[in-house]
Amino acid sequence: MSGEGGFDDAAYDRGMEELTKGDGEDNVITEWTEVHETFDTMNLHENLLRGIYAYGFEKPSAIQQRGIVPFAKGLDVIQQAQSGTGKTATFCAGILQSLNYELEECQALVLAPTRELAQQIENVMRALGDYLQVKCHACVGGTSVREDQRILQAGVHVVVGTPGRVYDMLRRRALKPDSIKIFSLDEADEMLSRGFKDQITTFSNCCRQSCKLAFSVRLCRRKRWKLLASL
Ligand code: AMP
Repeated sequence: MSGEGGFDDAAYDRGMEELTKGDGEDNVITEWTEVHETFDTMNLHENLLRGIYAYGFEKPSAIQQRGIVPFAKGLDVIQQAQSGTGKTATFCAGILQSLNYELEECQALVLAPTRELAQQIENVMRALGDYLQVKCHACVGGTSVREDQRILQAGVHVVVGTPGRVYDMLRRRALKPDSIKIFSLDEADEMLSRGFKDQITTFSNCCRQSCKLAFSVRLCRRKRWKLLASL
């Protein structure tokens, strides 16, 4: 059945089932029970904690209490929550905790479905990573290709972007996938339903085999109603 904005609930459920089902070798944890009620107990870099508090966050939101640590432990993660619950800072903090700051090569690639969202993510990544001196760049359409090439060639730790421009940068070899160890899809449900699937497959094939995957998805309307009904 099709839900909000042509969203195909059944296809989404099938996709999630496919993603999370084990083949006998994979150990998929569908319920993560470790909860940290403060940022201090998450064992984060001191300079990441400084960035989080300087940004104005005092207490982690529910998804941050559960989502930052598995990221930092290097697990593949699917985080599923409604919009506005703090998913962006969850994967930004997880990525910032996992980078090697001595190495000025792209180690994390974050894809978002729109330019605005990619730029918002870049702002959060820069702000939380301010004291870590993270180098983050947003590769989105509508901006100078030359400038993107120049910045990427000078060295960045994280690239956030929309599929078209990121693909262009990979094709021009301005973005080298060799050091990418985290591949994160924000609003993965939206990206997959917007027909970016082939590009996403190309990106994930470029990344090294040990690359960690992170999907951030919104709860679809039916699931939200189910959740509300259960309260
Ligand atoms: P998001 O779901 O990532 O778009 O975040 C929604 C809003 O919640 C943004 O304005 C964030 O700055 C804010 N936010 C996220 N995490 C926290 C937190 N731990 N404390 C206060 N505000 C937060």
